[in-house]
Formats: sequence, structure tokens, C-alpha cells
Amino acid sequence: MILNGKKIADQIALDLKEKISKHEKKPNLSVVLVGKNSSSLIYIRMKKKACEKVGIDFNLYHFNDEEKENVILKKIDRLNQDDNVNGILIQMPLPKQISSKKAIQRIDPNKDVDGFHPINAGKMLLGDETGFISCTALGIKTLLLKSNIKIESKHVVILGRSNIVGKPLAAILMQKKPHANATVTVCHSYSKNLKEITRSADILVAAIGKPRFVTADMIKENTVVIDVGINHIKMPDGTTKVLGDVDFENVSKIASKITAVPKGVGPMTVVSLLKNTYKSFCKKNEK
Ligand code: NAP
Repeated sequence: MILNGKKIADQIALDLKEKISKHEKKPNLSVVLVGKNSSSLIYIRMKKKACEKVGIDFNLYHFNDEEKENVILKKIDRLNQDDNVNGILIQMPLPKQISSKKAIQRIDPNKDVDGFHPINAGKMLLGDETGFISCTALGIKTLLLKSNIKIESKHVVILGRSNIVGKPLAAILMQKKPHANATVTVCHSYSKNLKEITRSADILVAAIGKPRFVTADMIKENTVVIDVGINHIKMPDGTTKVLGDVDFENVSKIASKITAVPKGVGPMTVVSLLKNTYKSFCKKNEK
């Protein structure tokens, strides 16, 4: 069975649209983009479209590749001070002259809807729900819950330990809380006997950025497989194809449930960004 992230995300977006329409003011997401990375431009377009669909104002601040770090930091300061801005997102990657660590730490944690600021990362680890959870991790958890996949007591194996996917997902699924309580194993490029570990997974999440890395012999029957990978591959005919980290054709014959790429985790990530922006908006209006 294919887990249709797009369908679930569309439903969440509809609910959000309805909630947002009841407010006099609109939430605002402000995005800082530096340079012209082609993937970044695609992601920004998707985020803008998604915001417009639910009634979130979207502002893009686009700087050229050469922009100095202090100009970007000052822009973040101004967005922090702007009462109309609920969410701030710095589109990664940033060019070399700008420290992504400095940029992320400069964002007001109350507006850090990507959940990358150390305060939000810390809150997430502690299970404090007043912060923001990284959008992909939140999206995957929501996808599992909305698909009625039990997480509690399951062995979740995550391939990849990045700060934006693997680590936050591990942190939220292992919490001592309802809809969590999983036993989590996180693998990375130094892990040994990968196949042995992945074959013991009830839920396998692949987030490593290697096309078709997870093959059918790496999973046991009835595993739920979540493919996070987005790999742009140039085909012999010159076109570009987007492939996941899972060999979908063969793994889908064994897995009980599996996400496809596209229309799997990607739309869940985007809708989680909208949810976080709305959460920030509501928190501000409660004050
Ligand atoms: P990343 O920062 O490059 O991290 C990749 C992780 O995979 C690292 O922890 C690395 O280990 C591990 N890894 C690499 N080769 C491995 C191997 N052979 N065996 C085991 N582990 C291995 O990547 P990311 O940002 O997390 O993204 C991962 C993929 O997800 C990419 O394709 C990205 O485009 C995609 N993505 C999709 C979404 C979405 O919404 N669908 C969101 C974010 C990312 P080390 O730590 O040891 O180097």
C-alpha cells in the first residue's frame, strides 16, 4: 500500500485554510534566500504556492550570491522586530561567506518555524511542545499518525543522522509520550552490518541522499518504509528524474506500506511548515 503524503497534506492544508480564514489578520512567513541554487528556487516556489493556498502571506527577500554576512544578519534582525512576521526561514544552503550557524542562531526562536534554532532543538529533545519541531520530522510523524500506523513499541530504524531529518525524528519518536514510545536506532555512514539492522525494523526511514540505496533484501516483510530522499538524477536522454533513497519498484513488493517520491514525505514537510507558521501566529495572538 502506498502512503499518499500529498493527499494527507492537502487535507491538513484545507483544515488550516479554514482555521486561518476565521482570523482577521493573516499569518506571515518571511523567507531569506541568498543566491540562485536551482533546488532552493524550486523549494521556495513550492512553499510560496502552499502558503498562498491556505491564506498565509509569503514574503521573499532574495539576495545575490555575493551578499555579505552582516547584511543577511541585519535583515534577520529586522524580521525579528517586525510584528507582522510570524515565521522566518533561511533557505539552505547559504553561500560560503555566510555562516548558517550564525544565521540560524540570529532568528528569534519564537519565529523559527524550521525548528533549527538551538532553543527549539533543545525543547524538542526535552519533549517541550512550546517550541517548533523540524518540518520533515514533524511531517513524517504526522504521516504515520494520519495513516494509523502505530509507533508505540515499534522498532524504528532511521538511516541518516542529519540535524534536519534523522536526529529530530529520532528525538520525537522516542519520547515518553502517546504517539511515540518507539525504540529507535539511528544509522550513519560509520554504521556496520546495516542490512542486519534494517531487517529488524518495523518502520524504516531512509534519509541519506543516495538514490535507490535501500534494496528489497534490506527489509523484512510487513515493514513500513518511509523514503525521505530527494535525488535529482540526470537521465541518459538529458532529462532530470527525482529518485528517492529507496528502490521503490522492488521494496514496495515486500513492504506493507511505503511512501513514493514524489508525493510522499515532501508535501508533508511543506504542510508542517504551514502548521508551524500558524502555531507561531496563534501564540503571538494569545499574548
Ligand atoms: P545529509 O545532511 O547529507 O545527511 C545524510 C546522512 O546520511 C548522514 O547522516 C550520513 O552519515 C548518512 N549516510 C550517508 N551515506 C550513508 C550510508 N552509506 N549508510 C548509512 N548512512 C549514510 O542529508 P539530509 O539533509 O538529512 O537529507 C537526506 C535526503 O533527504 C536527501 O536526499 C535530501 O534531499 C532529502 N530531504 C528530503 C526532504 C523532504 O521533505 N522530502 C527534507 C529534507 C531532506 P554521516 O553523518 O556519517 O555522514
